[in-house]
Amino acid sequence: KEVLLSVRDVKTWFPVKKGVFKRVVGHVKAVDGVTLDIYKGETLGLVGESGCGKSTLGKTLLKLVHAKEGEVCFQNGTEQTDILKLNEKQMSEYRKKMQIVFQDPYSSLNPSFTIFTSLKDPLNRFGVRKREEQRKIIGDLLEAVNMRPEYMDRYPHEFSGGQRQRIGIARALSVNPELVICDEAVSALDVSIRAQVLNLLLDLKKERNLTYVFITHDLSVVEYISDRIAVMYLGKIVELASTKRLYANTMHPYTQALFSAIPVVDLDTKRKRIVLEGDVPSPVNPPSGCPFHPRCKHCHERCKTEAPQLKPYEIDGEIHFVSCHLMEENHYIEQGE
Ligand code: SF4
Ligand code: MG
Repeated sequence: KEVLLSVRDVKTWFPVKKGVFKRVVGHVKAVDGVTLDIYKGETLGLVGESGCGKSTLGKTLLKLVHAKEGEVCFQNGTEQTDILKLNEKQMSEYRKKMQIVFQDPYSSLNPSFTIFTSLKDPLNRFGVRKREEQRKIIGDLLEAVNMRPEYMDRYPHEFSGGQRQRIGIARALSVNPELVICDEAVSALDVSIRAQVLNLLLDLKKERNLTYVFITHDLSVVEYISDRIAVMYLGKIVELASTKRLYANTMHPYTQALFSAIPVVDLDTKRKRIVLEGDVPSPVNPPSGCPFHPRCKHCHERCKTEAPQLKPYEIDGEIHFVSCHLMEENHYIEQGE
């Protein structure tokens, strides 16, 4: 498998300011040391509760927010470029390769512009300036997302939520990206429309050799669309494995609690509902040691002082990344134990 993007120990912190002088009194550690590889052609699901840092991680990968440290290396043939080190001018080539689709395209489509006017903007920026050529490309894009080309002369309010999301996808694809980050891209849609848009995303991925990072809090959506899934808690990835592997057996106590809320369809699967005690701690002052320790029922002395690292374990012939001392201590726990 070929790596498209390799992320190394990335931290994205936001200052917390107080008082008239806006003194910095702390930092929200939204992304706090993330390392992972994104493979060409895969869909990597990124899950976790709201506030765990998944959206910030998505924006960090596209340099829409500024990372404090770490590397995000884009693989260009045999060369690797750390995009975090590029200036805005050098970055423009990569802006084309990486696009994002947000939850609510209505907020990103100007209501007083036609779809054509909104979609020609990225084309202009990346050098397609002839009007006829723009109309042809936008017409083709609308067809690619199963809409009529003549819709380009209409306004956003003339479309339903599902149609607007298709337009948002068309816009992301207009510059022929390699990587598309979908941030809760189907979360606002009705269940029936959601399935249509998910299938459209899967078809487009095949046709255009895309790679997706699919950010969502919806575990049924992520199971449907992802090849692999990364689970985030308080700015860190706590578990990462193939979708099949993860849905068969979660290893990290946090993932086990998160997944225990999924209704069981298959009667052979035993899944006891695990209720997490306490609130998610503040990302300004994350707990010492393992960030999950105040809520973990398997917490032991070591967990309070020593932070576990995300490490690969071979389980049933597959590599499964887990960040938990229990794994190191060869104490495998079953879901619901
Ligand atoms: Fe729980 Fe300790 Fe594992 Fe953290 S390291 S998840 S506290 S058992
Ligand atoms: Mg979010």
